[in-house]
Amino acid sequence: MITTDVENYPGFAKGIEGPELMLQFRQQAERFGTEFLEEWITRVDLQSRPFTLHTENRVVKADTLIIASGASAKWLGVPGEAKTPKGFGGNGVSACATCDGPLPAFRNKRLVVVGGGDTAMEEATFLTRYASRVYVAHRRDKLRASKIMQEKALKNEKIEFLWNTELAEILGTHEQGVTGVRLRDTNSGAEKNFDCEGVFIAIGHKPNTELFKGQLDMDAVGYLQTNGHSTATNIPGVFACGDVQDSVYRQAVTAAGTGCMSAIDAERFLDHLPVEMPSGEEVTIEGEHITKDRKLIIEPGGEVVSNEPVS
Ligand code: NDP
Repeated sequence: MITTDVENYPGFAKGIEGPELMLQFRQQAERFGTEFLEEWITRVDLQSRPFTLHTENRVVKADTLIIASGASAKWLGVPGEAKTPKGFGGNGVSACATCDGPLPAFRNKRLVVVGGGDTAMEEATFLTRYASRVYVAHRRDKLRASKIMQEKALKNEKIEFLWNTELAEILGTHEQGVTGVRLRDTNSGAEKNFDCEGVFIAIGHKPNTELFKGQLDMDAVGYLQTNGHSTATNIPGVFACGDVQDSVYRQAVTAAGTGCMSAIDAERFLDHLPVEMPSGEEVTIEGEHITKDRKLIIEPGGEVVSNEPVS
């Protein structure tokens, strides 16, 4: 979590910073024996169980999988936004104020934040700790952000709002980085150059689901689809929680809530998996015995039924 102030997480009357909340989550999970592997997953195979996850260094097998890969920042696609050397990304352009805001390149500088939602308000407010002035460029004259975040930003004297304003281009040189932006009035279409030394794009997020394309059901935007009142995906044993399956609420507290649902769903799924015996037969929680060749099921009352697919 890279968000700074989390104001609405229950139990923290004065709010809590995102990284501190994450640390507490981790310590709590470790107390129950959770093992953390800090590696990128490069490929997954969910077609048969146990599921297979490939990282750069190892292969991990799992009887059940909970996907909580979240969502990443969206970009505008304007000239100058691409990563350096093509544009100024990493050289004055960022999508994460908490990661990059404290860097010397942005200290005591004029910074532009693009967006009108909670992310933009949060980034702008955070950047006032370092910047000389923060300008929020929003394409409408009304903010989408929650009331509390709007109020905080609107009363911050270091923040100025540029209403009905679109970012058309990011200007600069490779030596100096960003030196300004070209802004467009969304009503008149008039354009003007505006001096600044940094640009933060804060226009929302897209789900991190590339890995699961072609295997799990997703909506048109790429959010994982879960079934009814559960976190189950279309593959039995694979569950999804948090921002990767929620395009509506997207709060730390709602993500934690669906995370808890996933844990319960996964535990119930595992409880109903047959347990393999040393003899090779499997026994289900209901007391059914599945023969070693998996062709027959012997029910608790002794009745023998076929386990072959019905043709
Ligand atoms: P939102 O979708 O809420 O807001 C995106 C903003 O960017 C909107 O104002 C939108 O404008 C603008 N925008 C989108 N695309 C473009 C574009 N191409 N050009 C110009 N402007 C654009 O995303 P957020 O990331 O702000 O918030 C997502 C969710 O996460 C919300 O539910 C929010 O409450 C939550 N959140 C909570 C936080 C907290 O509690 N600390 C912190 C951050 C997020 P327009 O309004 O015109 O559509």
